[in-house]
This record gives sequence, C-alpha cells and structure tokens, in this order.
Amino acid sequence: MKYNHILVRFGELALKGKNRSYFEKQLLQNMKMTLKGFPLLSYKRTYGRIVVELNGQAHEPVVAKIKSIFGIHSFSLALKVENDVDDMKRGALEVLKSHEAKVRTFKISTKRAYKPFPIDSQKLNHLIGGYVLSNTEDITVDVHNPDLDIRVEVRETATYITSGTYAGAGGLPVGTSGKVLLMLSGGIDSPVAGYLTMKRGAKIEAIHFHSPPYTNERAKQKVIDLAKTLTKFGCTIKLHLVPFTDIQQHLHKEAPSNYQMTLMRRMMLRISERIAQERGILAIATGESLGQVASQTLHSMHTINEVTNLPIIRPLVTMDKLEVIEIAKQIDTYETSILPYEDCCTIFLPTDSKTRPKREKANKYEQYLQVEHYINDAVSRTETVLITNESKQNKLDELF
Ligand code: ATP
Ligand code: MG
Repeated sequence: MKYNHILVRFGELALKGKNRSYFEKQLLQNMKMTLKGFPLLSYKRTYGRIVVELNGQAHEPVVAKIKSIFGIHSFSLALKVENDVDDMKRGALEVLKSHEAKVRTFKISTKRAYKPFPIDSQKLNHLIGGYVLSNTEDITVDVHNPDLDIRVEVRETATYITSGTYAGAGGLPVGTSGKVLLMLSGGIDSPVAGYLTMKRGAKIEAIHFHSPPYTNERAKQKVIDLAKTLTKFGCTIKLHLVPFTDIQQHLHKEAPSNYQMTLMRRMMLRISERIAQERGILAIATGESLGQVASQTLHSMHTINEVTNLPIIRPLVTMDKLEVIEIAKQIDTYETSILPYEDCCTIFLPTDSKTRPKREKANKYEQYLQVEHYINDAVSRTETVLITNESKQNKLDELF
C-alpha cells in the first residue's frame, strides 16, 4: 500500500485570527520551496490545513524534509479514498496491514466532517471495524488503549484515512515576522541562535566578520556551510562578509589591551547596525548567553549594547552550553561548528580582557580612534553572497 497524501496541520496559526490566511500562504510558499526537489507533489490549502498529494512520490524523503519546516504543528500520512463505505473498509485494512510495528489491538475513529454523508460515525466505526476484524487474525478491538488508532475523516469530496501523526517543527512560518540580521561566527552558538530566530517566523540575513589573511578561505567556507544548513529551515540567506582586519589592527595599535575586546564588539555591532539599516532590517540576533565568557557578562553586554538602538535578540541568553550543543547536534550545525579554523575574534586579542568594562571608558578610548572612517571602509568593502539550498552551489570559487 502506498499512502497518497500528507495532511499538514498548523497549530499555533489557528490563534492568529485575521492574519491566518497570510500565515497559511507563507507556509505554503515555504513548503513549496523546501520540497522543490520533489516535482511530482501538488498542494491544496483546505479546511484550515494543507494537503500534499504525493502523485507517486515515495513519502519517506518528503516526511524528512517536512519535519524541519516551521509553522507546522503536526502532520500525518493519509490514504485518500472515495466517499464510499467499501473503499473506506479496504483503505482501513490496508493502513493497518502496512504498519511495520506489531499491532494486536486497534480502533476505528471516524469523524464525519461532511454531515450530509448518510451514515453516521458510530455506524461507520462498526462497519469498518467489522471488516478489518474479519480480514485479519489475532487482532482485536480496544477502544481505550489501542496499539493503532485508525482515523477515518469523511470530507465533502473524499475520505482521508490516517494512523498516527508526526510532530512538526512548531513555531511560525519563516517570513511572517519580518527580517533579522544574524551575527554569524563559525562557532557553535550563533547558528543555533539563527535557527531559534527563524523558528519564531523571522527571515534572516547573516553578517560575518573575517580577517584575511589571518583567517583563511576554509574558515569562510565554514560560515557559508553553516548558513547553508540554516536554509533548510525555510529561506535563502543573504550572507554579508565584512573585512575586519584593518579594524583589528587599528585597535591593537591604538587601544588599551584590556578594552580591545569590548571595543572590537562595539565596532562589530555598529557595522551590523549600518548593514541592517541599509537593508531595512529592524533587529540583530547573536549567539550570546549570559555569563559564558568575558564578552558576555552583563557589564559587557551593557557597554557593548550602548552603540545601537536596534533590538538585539539573544535566543540563547538563558541556556547552558550543553543545551545549546544539543540543539546544534539536532540541526546538523555542530559538526561544522567544531572544525578548527581560526575565528577573527581570537586573532590579536589580548588575554586580559575586562569582565566589567565601563561605558565611559569605552567612549573615552574611542575618542582616539577613527571609528567613522573604519566603519565606512569596512561597509564599503563588504561582499554579499546569496546562500541557497541547492546541492552543488555555495562553494567558494563559484561564489566569488
Ligand atoms: P559562537 O559560538 O556563536 O561563536 P561564542 O560563544 O564564541 O559564540 P563570542 O565569541 O563571545 O561567543 O561571540 C558572541 C556572539 O557574537 C556570537 O554568538 C556571534 O553572534 C557574534 N560574533 C562573534 N564573532 C563573530 C564574527 N566573526 N562574525 C559575526 N558575528 C560574530
Ligand atoms: Mg565564537
């Protein structure tokens, strides 16, 4: 037996009142993009859910991809049959027989969403259940705690038979909450922050600071790979690569060593704000967590944050490192993140960074720096690449 449909349910979207149709349309668009590799599929928006018709496409790889699409609460494989009792009986039996796990007990749960259908759900349960019983051995009905609950949903134009549901990725469809600029390093945390930001419906662009020739091409490729992994959660990602070497050298020469880290972060944030403004982006996301390292104490955040008025989204702020690592493994960024290439932040950086940097001091030191000049220069030399989900794309030499 081959399931011929997938029924996709929204969950949280149901709460969104007037916006509902907008959210559904965005979700449908995201699904079509994520499932572009399966040209046989066709889609229908109906009864507050999306029905995907497989048209002969095997369901396994499709299921794997649907699991990562935000805005989906749950989904089920379904066998669509005519609104005909004999077809329903045969369909229910097929669904039961196709089950890999050993099934000893079952129940039929009919829902007659289309009331004009002449047989009520109680009666249908009996008719279909009786047929299944008489065509199987060693199987009984258990209405309270069955191994398999076969759901038969009678709609106006057809009946859908399902058993079991897959959990969806939850969240909101990417693109329904505006755009956020993700500060993407090559580390473990920021890709996870990007994933969680997308989960709440934001489309992301990414900004990465690199310091050639001190950081090499493979470090850059690593960030491209991370961005690419994030595209599977629902959007293409514009990646802005900012040359940061000159700024680091300037700080190294002109600023007291214990404030270099703070001043460097302030520069990163100013440049990020500038790029965000140019692109109509209203917030910045980072992978910071409270108290992890010197740059992430409250004092540090307070002093670094001073240079921008944009909201900074820090999805990991309350998480332990181990919790972050667990998510990184689930979303397939971990293995890339731990590749040992130099990050720009570790270059030139003294080890005596202040854990309690003060705003007044940072401002004072910046009076001796050419802040505007270096920001303008870095922004003007920023390269932007579009990262997509295409398999062959996104190798450095093809992008530049
Ligand atoms: P990550 O694991 O994301 O690298 P981290 O624990 O190493 O984070 P920091 O080095 O203090 O922490 O960086 C804090 C945040 O600053 C990062 O999560 C990221 O959002 C941003 N950031 C750091 N370095 C860069 C960079 N080279 N380019 C862009 N953003 C960066
Ligand atoms: Mg890092």
